[in-house]
Amino acid sequence: MYRILEILRRESGFLSGEGIGKQLDISRAAVWKGIKKLRQEGYEIEAVTNKGYRLVLHDTMYNDKEIAQGLETKKFGHPIFFYKITDTTNGCLRAAAVEGAPEGTIAVAEQMTAGRGRRGRHWEAPAGSGIWMSILLRPTIFPSEASVLTLLAGLAVCQALEEETGLSPQIKWPNDILLNGKKLVGILTEMDCEMQETHFVIVGIGINVNTAEFPEGVNDVATSLYLESGRTFSRKNILQRVLLNFENLYEAFISSHSGFAPFLSRYKEKCSTLNQEVRVIGKETFFAQAVDITPEGELVVIRKDNGKQEIVFSGEVSIRGGK
Ligand code: ADP
Repeated sequence: MYRILEILRRESGFLSGEGIGKQLDISRAAVWKGIKKLRQEGYEIEAVTNKGYRLVLHDTMYNDKEIAQGLETKKFGHPIFFYKITDTTNGCLRAAAVEGAPEGTIAVAEQMTAGRGRRGRHWEAPAGSGIWMSILLRPTIFPSEASVLTLLAGLAVCQALEEETGLSPQIKWPNDILLNGKKLVGILTEMDCEMQETHFVIVGIGINVNTAEFPEGVNDVATSLYLESGRTFSRKNILQRVLLNFENLYEAFISSHSGFAPFLSRYKEKCSTLNQEVRVIGKETFFAQAVDITPEGELVVIRKDNGKQEIVFSGEVSIRGGK
């Protein structure tokens, strides 16, 4: 049926069932069956007597075939595992990684039933409105360097959203993207490693795109591109743009061997945490002024209680607006 889709995609006008059948060496009845299946998948295909079939392309179509169409990356998004519904894309991709899936493989879901934030916190991932995806990386880096990948992913998503929507989201160090102070994107990085060796890293990215409302408990902290701009956006276009930006940053990171330093000024420019009063929630909870980010990507804060400088490592803490 996807071969029928490819033929229809190449033709802007109508194509007869007989013509399509000839190209694929199948009967007209088989063509009709394929068309029916494509329609069940959500494709709009016009059928006119004596003319044939025509594909009406909507950029709202969202599945592995559509995401692959026009994707300009070399590695990221090759291949794509697409799920209409699954528990978590990080979990699906972990299973694929253990089986030997290549770097750049992505898992994308229309809906996640058990989406997670850090430390097992719930991530709301309903059907139809957001991008829920995970990307598999196999960098030859020490496990201690892996947190940089979260920062790079944040920067990539921020740039991609800016380019695609014209809005100006900001990064809340280390792993969230906010729009007008509310959470638009969550990033959850997980890895499989030994003491000195990283086997693989999975970067999970959740973006609220066309969400019109959030359930109680999330609605006071969360927002979507739609809620902030009043416009709806193509998830496919945004996803492609995120992959392209992230691949470029990741390649530069791997080839430069200079850690986070080359990306620091770009990251700082988009980071709303700097110069803010924050509450650092870790082993100990305290109020502080966020003053800088180190070339390793750690947050430098001045504690309110004793005026001392402290370095905060990502992964260990949550940052909240201070009060
Ligand atoms: P943080 O590190 O900021 O505490 P996490 O990265 O662990 O947050 O993400 C989980 C939290 O995000 C949840 O506790 C919830 O408040 C919020 N949340 C859940 N689903 C969504 C969503 N779709 N969009 C924005 N925020 C969400």
